[in-house]
This record gives sequence, structure tokens and C-alpha cells, in this order.
Amino acid sequence: MNRYSTEVAIIGAGIVGIATAYYLKKLNPDVPVILVDAAEPMALTSAQSGENYRNWWPHPIMTAFTDRSIDLMETLSNETNNLINMNRRGYCLASRIEDTDKLMAELNHGYSQSSNLQIRVHENNATQAYHPPTSADWESAPTGVDVLKDQRLIQSTFPSYDPSIKTIVHIRRAGAISAQQMGQHMLQYFKASGGQFLRANVDEIEHDGDFVLRTNTNTNTNTNDVSTKNHISIKSEKLINAAGPFLQHIASMLSTTLPVHNTLQQKIAFEDTHKAIPRNMPFSIDLDAQLIDWTDEEREWLLESDEHKALTELMPGAIHCRPEGGDKGTWLKLGWAYNSNAELPSRNPVLTDAFPEIVLRGAARLNPALKRYETTLPKHTHHYGGYYTLTNENWPLIGPTDVAGAFVVGAMSGFGSMAACAAGELCALHAMDAQLPNYAHALSLLRYQDTTIMSELQALSTGIL
Ligand SMILES: Cc1cc2nc3c(=O)[nH]c(=O)nc-3n(C[C@H](O)[C@H](O)[C@H](O)COP(=O)(O)OP(=O)(O)OC[C@H]3O[C@@H](n4cnc5c(N)ncnc54)[C@H](O)[C@@H]3O)c2cc1C
Repeated sequence: MNRYSTEVAIIGAGIVGIATAYYLKKLNPDVPVILVDAAEPMALTSAQSGENYRNWWPHPIMTAFTDRSIDLMETLSNETNNLINMNRRGYCLASRIEDTDKLMAELNHGYSQSSNLQIRVHENNATQAYHPPTSADWESAPTGVDVLKDQRLIQSTFPSYDPSIKTIVHIRRAGAISAQQMGQHMLQYFKASGGQFLRANVDEIEHDGDFVLRTNTNTNTNTNDVSTKNHISIKSEKLINAAGPFLQHIASMLSTTLPVHNTLQQKIAFEDTHKAIPRNMPFSIDLDAQLIDWTDEEREWLLESDEHKALTELMPGAIHCRPEGGDKGTWLKLGWAYNSNAELPSRNPVLTDAFPEIVLRGAARLNPALKRYETTLPKHTHHYGGYYTLTNENWPLIGPTDVAGAFVVGAMSGFGSMAACAAGELCALHAMDAQLPNYAHALSLLRYQDTTIMSELQALSTGIL
């Protein structure tokens, strides 16, 4: 048996565990850290991400947290000559509803602690200039939010949208990154600073003052295979649980539990051979709930199945679409996080065969040119998915647990790529007992004892996309 000893052991080399390892080394280059994963780094949930980011949230604490993460990603972009491919055309939230009072109230609340943030409303005959998202460059992108209520402006700027769209909320500090490149860069830095990565499956943890992680190293190159080979053990003073969908599994090894569950979410990517979507269209979200436009025959077929009949009922909003691969690329990504059924995680989740057609029908409501692909999606359409690991309120869990010396960083739902930097930094600050930012308390397990925050959260939407 190979034995290792360290000050901090991190279980999980997804984007969140890697960011934590990176910021531990940034804070204190001398701290001994071992990062351990059963598979290749970035190969589980982090490989499924749409890699989008935004600072738009229903609550100012999440806005501050993701703003911090975007600041850190901007620093990484500057330090690496934009190796992380950060771009910024914003998020466009489209709705058929003309009365924007509720939307404006949510925006004002979400950004209430963001100093100098402008929310500009563009109605007919507006006097303020609206800057269309012609460039993908993040450094020259406008800040703040534009609310478009002028039909001619909407149609001329977003010609692919259905003419029924009456309102666009254009969040400007939003776009996409290459989270894979970001993870690889941070991992390289971690290793170059003396950090160790071990490929091993943790299947037992002893805790008696220190932690002893018992593992079986995995030498198989198949990332989904965690079969066993040589036994190793890692003795560590502090333990960080960054196991993504397996957070609860690791917590149970410490005889504790975490208030998290997993829901399977799926996406498709395909080549836009019909050029249905303009390449400069920002990440676009249809905010409105909808009845999918099935044919009578399809509807009849769906109604016969217990599994599928819900698809004939009102489906939630937030279906999204964006061009993938830059202005010269040809691919599109579509996603719709409508599944709210909790399930036990698996390394090989079973995807819904009908999902590609479901998401396509839903997305064609905002971008009708997508109808050309109905029942004829290209043969090489990539259908993939992974788990949103989340708390009921859709806020992450970052900080100490009820086991002395053990920390958690996870429950990153559909925002783990964009928030990994701030989450990793925050967990590193906790583990090093350093000064914490204002949002630390609310994002830790301590919030469950804070009735003010919890009752506030019950009244808000979760911001799941
Ligand atoms: C379909 C989809 C689309 C998404 N789109 C976006 C998006 O556009 N923007 C965004 O910001 N986020 C998005 N997300 C969310 C984001 O991908 C996740 O929040 C993030 O990847 C979670 O990272 P993680 O490191 O916590 O988990 P993971 O990437 O799952 O990493 C956990 C690691 O722990 C390891 N592990 C677990 N148990 C053990 C064990 N016993 N021993 C050793 N290792 C173990 C696993 O092998 C794994 O590598 C999306 C997610 C999905 C599913």
C-alpha cells in the first residue's frame, strides 16, 4: 500500500475542486495539497457544462458571488492571453409579456447591491442609445442591463426571434468561457506549485483527529470506470469534499449528511446546416412557459405513455439556445432544465431518447427557423447530460461542515463553471482560516440557522436555468 500525508486533501477534480486547489496555492504556495479523483480531471459533470456565465440572479448575494467569479475569470483571461476564450454578448431573456413591472422589480432586487449598475429601458422613441451585441469581445462590452420594449429595435437587432416577442432583458455582464481550458490551466498551475494529483477512488474515510482516505487507485483510462488496482491511503489534516454529484456519498463516509439532491439535465449540440441562427445571437432564453407545438398524432402518442404525457402539459420557461464555436463556427447548443425529479447519481446517467426533439420544439418557439430541423436533426447531433447537484433554494454550499476539519464546496447546480473561481477562492479562505467576504455566511451551511435569509429565499425564484 502507498501512503501519502498532506495538510489538505480535496476529493474531486471537477472545475470546483480544481479551482479550490488553485486558490489554496494562490493564497499559500507552501501549503501541501493533494487533489484526488477517481477519473480524469474535468471528466464528469464539468465535461457537460454549457460553459455560459452571467451576473443575473434573483438575489443580490448570488449576484455579488458570481460578479466576484467573473472578476476572477477576467484576471485569468488577462493573465493567459484569453486562453479561457472568454466572450461577452450577454444573455437575452425574451418574453411576450409587455408589462415589465415584475421583471423590473426582480432586476432591481437582484442588482440592489451592485454599485453604479445601470438598468436602461429602451421604449419607442428612446433617447438613450442601445449598443447591439455586434462584438464578442468581453473587454469592450457594455455593463449593466438593457430592457428593450421597442418592437422595431427588437426585430432589427434580433431578426431570428419570433415577432410575438415584446420584451427583451439584455444582461450585459454575461457570455461564455472555455471551462475546460480554465480547469486545465488551473490544474497546471496547481501542479507547478507543488500540488499533487492522484487518480484514485475514495471509498472509505477514517476520522480520528486527522482524516485517512482509503482508496483504490484507478489505472484504467476509461473515465467512467472506477475499478480497483493498488490500494493507497492519504492522511490529511483537513478534508475538502468537492465530489460534485457524489457530495452526499462522501458526506456519508464521514457519518454526516448534506441538504443536496441531484436532477439530470440534458443538452443537444448540432451543426446548423440550414443557418437558422445568426452567429452573433447572444445566449437566448425564452422566459415564458409554453405548450409544445406537437402534431395531433404526436400528442396522441405522448398521452398514451405515463413517462411522456407531462410533455403535453404546460412546460416551464427558460429554454435556451446559443451559437457554439464563435462567429466562424457552425454549431448550436440547446438546453432546457425542466426536469425537477431528484435521483441517485450515476457515472453513466440514462438520457431521455425523446429529449433532442423536445428541446428542439421548445426552442423553435423563440427562433422559428429551428422548425426546419423538426424530426430531421442532423445525424451527428450530440445529445449529452449530467446532474445539477443542488440545494432546494439553488444556492451553493461552501464552508465548514459539522465534522471538524471537513469542508464542502459544491451544490453548484447549473452555475458551477461560472462560479467555480469564486467558490474555490471562498473554500480556500475557509480552509486557511483567512478573512471571508460578505457573502460567505449566506453560502455556508450556517444559512439554515438564519431564519431571515431562509424566509427571504422562500419568496424568491431559484434562478435555475
Ligand atoms: C447539462 C449541463 C449544463 C450546464 N451548463 C452550465 C453552464 O452553462 N454554466 C455553468 O456555469 N454551469 C453549467 N453547468 C453546471 C456545471 O457543469 C457544474 O456545476 C460543475 O461542473 C460542477 O463541478 P464539480 O466540480 O462540482 O463536479 P464534477 O465536475 O462532477 O466533479 C466532481 C468530481 O468528483 C469526483 N469524485 C466523486 N466521488 C469520488 C470519489 N469517491 N473518489 C474520488 N473522486 C470522486 C468525480 O469523479 C468528479 O470528477 C451545467 C451542468 C449540466 C449538467
